Amino acid sequence: MALKHQDLINKMSLEEKCSLLSGKDFWQTQELEHWGIPSIFLSDGPNGLRKQSGSADQLGLNASIPATCFPTSATSANSWDPEVTKKVGMTIGEEAAAHSVSVLLGPGINMKRDPRCGRNFEYFAEDPYLAGKLASGYIKGVQSNGISACVKHFACNSQEFRRISSDSVVDERALREIYLPAFEIAIKEGEAKCVMSSYNSVNGFYTNENPHLMKEILRDEWGYKGLVVTDWGGENERLEGLKCLNALEMPGTGGDTNYDVMCAVKEGKFDESIIDINVDNFVDFALPIAKVVKEHSREFDVNEHHRRAVEVARESIVLLKNEGDVLPVKDGTKVAFIGDFAANTRYQGAGSSQVNPLFVEQVKDEVKNYGWEVLGYEPGYERYGKKNKKLLDAAIELAKKADTIILFIGLDELTEAEGIDRANLKLAANQIEVVHELHKLGKKIAMVLECGAPVELPFIDEVDAILHPYLSGEGGAMAILDALTGKINPSGKLAETYPVSYNDVPTLGHFSLDAPTVEYRESIFIGYRYYLTAGVPVLFPFGHGLSYTKYEYSDLEVTEKGVSFTVKNAGSMDGKEVCQLYVGLKGSFVPRPKYELKGFYKVALKAGESKKVEIPFDEYTFRYFNVKTNKWEVEKGTYDIYVGASSMDIRLEGKIEQEGTEAPSPYENLNIPSYFSGRVQHISDPEFEAILGRAIPPHELPFIVKKNGKKSKRVPIHLSSNMSDLQYARGWVGRFFAWVLRFIIKHGSKATSNMITMGVYNFPVRAMSRMTNGMFSSGQGEAFRLIFDGHWHKGWAKFFKEGSKKRKYRKEVAAKLEADRVAAYTSQGLPVPPKEDPKAKAKAEKEERKAAERHAEEMKK
Ligand code: BGC
Repeated sequence: MALKHQDLINKMSLEEKCSLLSGKDFWQTQELEHWGIPSIFLSDGPNGLRKQSGSADQLGLNASIPATCFPTSATSANSWDPEVTKKVGMTIGEEAAAHSVSVLLGPGINMKRDPRCGRNFEYFAEDPYLAGKLASGYIKGVQSNGISACVKHFACNSQEFRRISSDSVVDERALREIYLPAFEIAIKEGEAKCVMSSYNSVNGFYTNENPHLMKEILRDEWGYKGLVVTDWGGENERLEGLKCLNALEMPGTGGDTNYDVMCAVKEGKFDESIIDINVDNFVDFALPIAKVVKEHSREFDVNEHHRRAVEVARESIVLLKNEGDVLPVKDGTKVAFIGDFAANTRYQGAGSSQVNPLFVEQVKDEVKNYGWEVLGYEPGYERYGKKNKKLLDAAIELAKKADTIILFIGLDELTEAEGIDRANLKLAANQIEVVHELHKLGKKIAMVLECGAPVELPFIDEVDAILHPYLSGEGGAMAILDALTGKINPSGKLAETYPVSYNDVPTLGHFSLDAPTVEYRESIFIGYRYYLTAGVPVLFPFGHGLSYTKYEYSDLEVTEKGVSFTVKNAGSMDGKEVCQLYVGLKGSFVPRPKYELKGFYKVALKAGESKKVEIPFDEYTFRYFNVKTNKWEVEKGTYDIYVGASSMDIRLEGKIEQEGTEAPSPYENLNIPSYFSGRVQHISDPEFEAILGRAIPPHELPFIVKKNGKKSKRVPIHLSSNMSDLQYARGWVGRFFAWVLRFIIKHGSKATSNMITMGVYNFPVRAMSRMTNGMFSSGQGEAFRLIFDGHWHKGWAKFFKEGSKKRKYRKEVAAKLEADRVAAYTSQGLPVPPKEDPKAKAKAEKEERKAAERHAEEMKK
């Protein structure tokens, strides 16, 4: 295959080529300036730029330079408007380019398989079509600045517990119809230039070295030409990753994986042409975006960006309930603000997406600009769950004087975090107690709910209205007040279902378990697909969101091109309505949800105004994945067309015939009644095996069987064993290490426990070498494994031997790279510039950070 940059690649030494494929440090790639290849900087996303200069980590622990904090993706998804996510991407992309960042690590588009996933606040939706469209908007926005977005985490990474070592066991149809289409749309329509492989494995292969995902689907089927980068420290077998064109490994490993690759080539075990293909891919990606950031303006309008953050929050706010039209609350009303979140808003999630915002507005401060008679504010409860009678009593005293109580409740910062799944869907008991007590006063209560994922609301009848801003970014306070007062008309709709109780979810018993696999037994029936089909009542359905006006739907027409209908704003307030198109097929020969989202459109309507809305069909409307033909097919039949204001508020119905592709039934002779009924909460092993097409892989840790045939409490430790597995290690060091971790998690403060869980407990043993930025080599990682596994002497001997080996080869490779550099300049007749000085680099980074902070401060004034 002819490579685009063949001439350039021919000039490079093996050492140089390998150096390009693994990070120079935590956030940057290696430069080869003598060949015109600069280093590029990658930074998180997705709801703001998180550029760290100085101390680096992938968990959001060290603050980054100040940046605009937008609502998180779970929030902007509620806008159901790709133009809104485009605005988010465009603005963050501009800040990134201004700060010399070439790759913005977002959006995250994993499916919300279970509402407890700790990272759901960072993902768009439980529906792949919606997530894909919103992601496309975001990507186009970021990339309109000439830099690259990075769509992540590819794929089936819908759980945080054991996220780096677990295997997602998923049937091919669910993979194709639920877990991949958002990526497909993001790549085909959004034209994402970069994809991040996820930490987990899928059906037995780590995603970065999974030929089915990376080659057959991503490259061959979707025609993807861009770059694939590993998630931070997620690389497993480097050679296998390179074969699958996972070109870039991040962060760097101090050159150790490069050295392993070079040795494999020199020993004839690995074909150098595979490295050339990856280098070609990387260079092709890096050159244009590096040029863009070099030439990009360093200035941007901080205040304008803040305004955009407020606008996005306004477009995304959801009115869940409004009994007796308690909202909007009229000017002059006597209101009491109760709840800590009114003074300390919860506006983003924890982990690698955590932005260091310039301004964060608080409702308690901003309310002075509105027309209510504000009687005061009382926190009412302690944020982290401790009972406090004094706070409760003070809140009740204040509330007694009010006409309307504006009550703020939500989840605290430590509950929704990357690396940690929630234990349940409950709000803290001390907050619920406040609701009960306030309800007893018999006053009107408008509740504002601040969290990034579903919670159970057993007290729902005790409040009159619920406004849900989700996690609304640095400007959320204004959006909340605008919605409460009726300055804006809420138009957000849920991009996920709110179940009545966690016991109702389709993934019950198959999520966040202490097991090496995650069994996706529910198959295609996630979210509303399950609740609708199995007839399970929900608290708030997918697509739900009220308004201060009323919309009437009429005149549905269905043609082979799509649907059209009329929507009228029949109330007295201007507003925006998200119209949703669902399609179903009764009596299908494959299990199907009752109907699925196939299109949507957000229409703005003045009071009394009517508009004709058209939603076209597209390549996703009628297709299903046939596991027998291994292709997308269309089943012949009469399809039901539903147009509605939510997945459970269908206003218009129609039908359309499809000829179909006449493929054979993929499930003939299979006994899968639960899948046909959609009642998938208790799928038996045989049924799951039937759609999986193979035996279910072992779901238990591999406990060693003793001579008497009984299972011991010990497991062998592999490089991919989770740190939590060390509690069963054969070596006492492993068990002791696990004990210390568990002790801290159990007895430490909530913040410390979270940090340990996020930062160590969920890491595999191989992270010792992959996530320490070169501190330990792969060989030393193996030495740790041996020690944990009970080979104390062998392990330490290896550790020291590998240590000196590492020092020796690092020196040799550095000398070779320097010689190559000098030779390259000399051969081009150019003077040899001095090498980068690490001290000068650290100084420059410090300066950059200070300058960014100064700039932000000045703009704020
Ligand atoms: C996260 C990614 C993130 C990366 C870099 C990882 O732990 O999963 O989403 O982009 O760290 O911070």
